[in-house]
Amino acid sequence: MNSGLNNLSITSAAKKLAAKEISAVDIARACLTEIEKRNPSLNAYLEVFDDVEAQAKAADARRAQGEKNTLLGIPMAMKDNILIEGRKVSAASKILQGYTASYDATVVRKLKEAGGIFLGRTNLDEFAMGGSTENSAFSVTKNPHDERRVAGGSSGGSAAALSAGMALGAFGTDTGGSVREPSSFCGLVGLKPTYGGVSRFGVIALGSSLDQVGPFARSVADVEILFNTLRGQDPLDSTSIDLGAYPQKKLTKKLGVPRKLFEKGVDADVLESFNASLKKLEGQGYTLVDVEIPGAALALAVYYIIMPAEASTNLARYDGVRWGVRHEGKTLFEDYAKTRGEGFGPEVRRRIMLGTYVLSSGYYDAYYGKATEARAQLSREVGAALEKCDAIISPTAPCPATKIGEKSDPLSMYLMDIFTVTANLTGNPAISIPGNPVSREGKELPVGVHLTAAHGNESTLFAIGRDLEAK
Ligand code: GLN
Repeated sequence: MNSGLNNLSITSAAKKLAAKEISAVDIARACLTEIEKRNPSLNAYLEVFDDVEAQAKAADARRAQGEKNTLLGIPMAMKDNILIEGRKVSAASKILQGYTASYDATVVRKLKEAGGIFLGRTNLDEFAMGGSTENSAFSVTKNPHDERRVAGGSSGGSAAALSAGMALGAFGTDTGGSVREPSSFCGLVGLKPTYGGVSRFGVIALGSSLDQVGPFARSVADVEILFNTLRGQDPLDSTSIDLGAYPQKKLTKKLGVPRKLFEKGVDADVLESFNASLKKLEGQGYTLVDVEIPGAALALAVYYIIMPAEASTNLARYDGVRWGVRHEGKTLFEDYAKTRGEGFGPEVRRRIMLGTYVLSSGYYDAYYGKATEARAQLSREVGAALEKCDAIISPTAPCPATKIGEKSDPLSMYLMDIFTVTANLTGNPAISIPGNPVSREGKELPVGVHLTAAHGNESTLFAIGRDLEAK
């Protein structure tokens, strides 16, 4: 029998730790027991570290010396594209086979200072390209709510680990929805911070103008704790900023609803669940205002030009010379072609080709240039909409977790990102909060409510989020 400590929220675990009712070792053991039971079938962790108990003992020792951090002794799961010194890191790609991180990502350094415990590395879509973790070179991660279904992606391993009680908090990266969409599919709270709010140093780059590290947790309060630990300007990431520099808006309890956006393409029961969440918020004194973001209809097209363009340049470094595997040919060119051809999976190769194409001379203006203009227009529209309300509200995804293999056509997979990519393109902070579940084939499946706020106004998301999760 497991002690159940693995299912605690961070907030309540921290209280029990502070009161010395339990130790960090107790919580770590509860997580390890659950991992042993469920990970073989869920495939959330690619590696469980062999020194978890030792880390927990060290945390207990720090507490005995008088340290009081909320995260001291809290076991967490880390997406396997964030560097932890001395540990392997794979980005779920064969191309990084045998690679070990030689330094800590800034977010990892901060979590270590706070006393967090790292349970292991979690599965993802290769190089974070995807929305279902089916693109991992190391097999799919299953959804703990229904193992025939995906956990979402690309941070599916972290979401499944937390949702199944195999951690108390988890981290992912979000380039187009990869924290928020798996949060929606697994019934968690997931945050994509304001662009630049959290350092990207030591995070394997996908789309550098879009990427942010984001926390997953069981409650809004827990996400807030994790975010406050991660945030802050970092001299090692020149795009990082102090979020306090943004004007802090006063809550007016107005929510912007871009109805036109989800008139089509959203599952009927998901829409029903979303409308119930709106009703609940209205009951708590919120008013709904109509907002129009015409550019959002183009957001997916813009995202799937800009993201592959940036990915194709970021991934140029995997050439078989400096990192990971190397497949030798007869010439240097053949070395590159073989290494990249065999090391990268199909989705990564597809995006590199797309990205190279839209950046090539003759096509740059027609695709990349146009997409950049449309992105600027989208930012203006979102900014204008947020003048009328505290946050823009929508479903997080048009459907609940899909069956494994169901979205084998890449375009249908890309469509699932319709509500999440805008915040990455505009840099706004956005969060997914569990709404009412829907039922499929006799199983209750979680769905998320998505909120977007003004730059640097994560506190708005937390305030509305708390009202949304209130019973
Ligand atoms: N699903 C999106 C994509 O495939 C988002 C990925 C991400 O946020 N890393 O690009």
